[in-house]
Amino acid sequence: MEASLGEYQIKGDEKMSRELYTNDGFELRESPEKGEGIFATKPFKVGDIVMVGIIKEVLSGNHSHASQISENKHVLHAGLISKVNHSCGPNCGIRVNETGAHDFIAMKDICVNEEITFDYAMRNYTIDHFPQQCMCGSARCRGRITGWKDLPDEKKKEYEGFVAPYLLELDAKHSGG
Ligand SMILES: [Zn+2]
Repeated sequence: MEASLGEYQIKGDEKMSRELYTNDGFELRESPEKGEGIFATKPFKVGDIVMVGIIKEVLSGNHSHASQISENKHVLHAGLISKVNHSCGPNCGIRVNETGAHDFIAMKDICVNEEITFDYAMRNYTIDHFPQQCMCGSARCRGRITGWKDLPDEKKKEYEGFVAPYLLELDAKHSGG
């Protein structure tokens, strides 16, 4: 099913309350171990659009809720996308939509009440704001949240098609290709 951007119209910052989003298949919840997280309220199949990205603001630099969309461009996504937690074994990946924003696409089937996660390395070439131990709890946890730059090749392969395309351009650039 194609999600339409129309149903995600933002009505200004203060109106951007969670109520706007709770019926779209996910909601913000407080989890004891990790604080806030986004949880599925309906099941998703592999390939489904789980969350539609909308750019709220283009930023002059990086900050902790920023999404990097090109080598030098950081944006803030509207809605709950900025609240999605990192996992080293995520159930979602990134696909750039026609507005340049990041849609979250299911890489695995997702059950109701499952937390929606992605790997920050799918979006950020380097990670500057998460120096601490990774708490994702995945069996395949890397121990520290690292950027795309530091992902092993087999992980990059596994994420193929689910990462921000500029990361691949940077890889090519840095390998001199
Ligand atoms: Zn982890």
